[in-house]
Amino acid sequence: MEMFIIPLGTCNCPYEVVAPGVHDGNLVKLPVPSYLIKLDDGKNLLIDTGMSRLHITDPGATWRGTEMIDILVPEMAPEDNLETRLADLDVRPTDIDYVINTHLHFDHAGNNDLFEKATFFVQREHYDWADGNDMFPNQYWNLPKLKYELLDGEMELFPGIEVILTPGHAPAHESVMVRLPASGNMVVCGDAVYTQDNFDFDSWGGQADPETAAQSGAKLKRIAEEQNALLLFGHDPAQAQQLHRSPQSYR
Ligand SMILES: [Zn+2]
Repeated sequence: MEMFIIPLGTCNCPYEVVAPGVHDGNLVKLPVPSYLIKLDDGKNLLIDTGMSRLHITDPGATWRGTEMIDILVPEMAPEDNLETRLADLDVRPTDIDYVINTHLHFDHAGNNDLFEKATFFVQREHYDWADGNDMFPNQYWNLPKLKYELLDGEMELFPGIEVILTPGHAPAHESVMVRLPASGNMVVCGDAVYTQDNFDFDSWGGQADPETAAQSGAKLKRIAEEQNALLLFGHDPAQAQQLHRSPQSYR
């Protein structure tokens, strides 16, 4: 098994969206990743698909006409197109067999439309919440051509790949344990934890349901300690600098 962390630009926003009470008033460029995992049987799995490539030429593509337009500002260079990043690894969209969406926000499901041949995994409770919900721009993922397999709870989806329920950011948000043979256990947190600051300052007020999010954060921390796992935060600028990014990989 091999995992690539694929950078797909940044979403620029006030820091209080991420961790209220820490650097209020500061703007921050939040890295937006996707994760490609080459499974041992030769299949290709993506975890999340980042922000839509439409933002490369039109940063307002998602939020124009809404109050979010000034709060969440995508910044993507041409090379931040997921299709381009995958091509650098000699992977075409039709080579993607599976996609796990931690959740269906625009910066996690923005390129779902590229993967018509894939089976998408998302929690049923989350899918039902996002269906028709304006805060989960449906144009990127709620498409008849895409095949969803809706999950009910935690499970091992593939050898070494397990989904973990981490609600609070959204109902039935899920994180993903990835058990790499050499690099060890890594957990793709999704937006259950945005940055290390959420832990360091016990700051969960940027989440839809802060109390539940704090519990999910504690759960991930416990899993990390018990299973010697590295938590990959959803949008941590400092951590992103330290991680190997595609075309480098973790094995
Ligand atoms: Zn996010």
